[in-house]
Amino acid sequence: MCFVLTGIRKRNLFQLPGKMFEGNSEEEDFNTIPRQFAEQISPQAFETQKRVYTKSAVSDLQKSKEYKEWHQRCSSCGSSWFNGQWSSQCRECGGFSMIRSCAICNGHCGSTWYRDVDMSHRMKEGYWNGKCNLPESEQTHFILQNFVDNKEDTLIEAFGDLGKR
Ligand SMILES: [Zn+2]
Ligand SMILES: [Zn+2]
Repeated sequence: MCFVLTGIRKRNLFQLPGKMFEGNSEEEDFNTIPRQFAEQISPQAFETQKRVYTKSAVSDLQKSKEYKEWHQRCSSCGSSWFNGQWSSQCRECGGFSMIRSCAICNGHCGSTWYRDVDMSHRMKEGYWNGKCNLPESEQTHFILQNFVDNKEDTLIEAFGDLGKR
């Protein structure tokens, strides 16, 4: 037998003392909780609710400002991408915070690319999602131009993004 607090479940489920879920019928266990919030459910239903709750709690958490601020941070130099910071010498920052201009044409097409934070953390270098709005022939021109300029990193990045399509 399990007890679940329906009215205040979302906020307090995991903050409540464990004994409240053990089916202990001693009145004093529930003294601090309005009785109308408690309902009996099967252990299976409790497990399901817990799973659904955990999933939505994680998704809520990831949308929160606090989480983003913690997550959107350079793991190499500590710059807060979330607050628009980056270090010029840092490979993981890659010269931008959370957004950048198009990496293929160096911003000529006007599209905005967004940092892939997890990949940036993992690879220890700037990783970006976006696409160039220029026709493919012009993109090739810019890629070759970058090659002539000997910007090897940009070239590899650009070809990598072409290959993903
Ligand atoms: Zn950095
Ligand atoms: Zn472009």
